[in-house]
Amino acid sequence: MPAFALEPEQYKWCEELRELGARELRPLAEAGEEGRINRPLLAALGRHGLLGRLFAPDGRPASALDLCLLRESLAYSCTEAETALALQGLGAGPVALAGTDAQRARWLGEVTSGRAAAAFALSEPGAGSDAAALALRADPEGDGDGWRLTGTKTWISNAPHADVFTVFARTTQDAGPRGVTAFLVPAGRPGLGGEPLEMLSPHPIGTVTFDGVHVSRDDVLGEVDGGFGVAMRTLNLFRPSVGAFATGMAQAALDAAVQHAGTRGAFGGVLRDLQAVSHQLAETATRIEAARLLVHAAAAAYDRGEPDIARRAAMAKLLATETAQQAVDTAVQIHGAAALQRGHLLEHLYREVRAPRIYEGASEVQRSIIAKELYK
Ligand SMILES: Cc1cc2nc3c(=O)[nH]c(=O)nc-3n(C[C@H](O)[C@H](O)[C@H](O)COP(=O)(O)OP(=O)(O)OC[C@H]3O[C@@H](n4cnc5c(N)ncnc54)[C@H](O)[C@@H]3O)c2cc1C
Repeated sequence: MPAFALEPEQYKWCEELRELGARELRPLAEAGEEGRINRPLLAALGRHGLLGRLFAPDGRPASALDLCLLRESLAYSCTEAETALALQGLGAGPVALAGTDAQRARWLGEVTSGRAAAAFALSEPGAGSDAAALALRADPEGDGDGWRLTGTKTWISNAPHADVFTVFARTTQDAGPRGVTAFLVPAGRPGLGGEPLEMLSPHPIGTVTFDGVHVSRDDVLGEVDGGFGVAMRTLNLFRPSVGAFATGMAQAALDAAVQHAGTRGAFGGVLRDLQAVSHQLAETATRIEAARLLVHAAAAAYDRGEPDIARRAAMAKLLATETAQQAVDTAVQIHGAAALQRGHLLEHLYREVRAPRIYEGASEVQRSIIAKELYK
């Protein structure tokens, strides 16, 4: 199926998701506390089967294109619901990709029902874009059956109150990406702590601290010293869908601007009569369409197992997140002061749209990936 022509059922599904977001999820999001895990919202995402779309029945990751349609549609009407869903996928992605049957059975049902909140803990104070520099220590225990984790993770979504963390720790010193192991760490392990962080956007996020936290062989996801690959495979699956999140926000901003420019009286007519305004709308609509096509094409290529995923996913995330920033800014400009008032949709989107250009590979990192692929 060509990625640029969705099936009628897929369009219909997107419409239903947008509608569900506006009718049921948006009020739940508004009732929640900014920057904290919203349990009723997670439960609703589980009840409506949306979290269940993150993974196939055998516990493997589901279709990347489905993930994009979900994220784009939810972002259009409720960014908090979109983010809650994406974080479940990111946090539990390593379990789906590299977990044992027992690990999948223990956690995936909990995560897809919305009973357990998941977190993906890779970044550290000294290791952001250069994630292979991570230093969280995994020191072997005397009996040879486990490790003690010591150190700090930061900017971890859903931390510190998540129910399960996928944690990337250094098991072999001076081995760069080849000395990292992925562990599953349930909340409540002695020595596990952390603090919430307040962000520009209403994003649940915090630090995670490890003071000699015990992990055993049963907690290892994949191979010992093979954890960096688990992290990268998870991020490769999610990269196009960050673009989808951005596209959903961009479309919401554009639709608001089209509506406003068509009704706001100015100089004896309405704003859209001014070519300076209507051309901005046309330009924004064109860029969003291009970004959406690139996102869908990258996701469909991922689902087909094509070889040039790295380049396509990087292009999709780069174009979509940069486009969304521009689209939201343009929509704010067309609205004037009203858009900057607390509680306005565009004030909300203006705060939401910034972070995706930084996380899961900053725009500059995406350009480096694309350039590297050009010279391969
Ligand atoms: C809202 C939010 C949620 C997050 N959630 C998570 C999470 O759940 N789990 C997790 O592990 N992390 C998470 N992060 C952290 C995120 O992954 C890091 O912020 C990201 O990797 C960038 O690292 P840094 O912020 O330390 O910036 P740095 O690595 O210090 O980079 C700063 C800037 O330097 C430039 N730069 C860096 N590297 C290059 C390069 N190679 N080429 C050119 N320019 C470069 C870019 O402009 C970049 O923005 C989250 C961050 C945010 C903002």
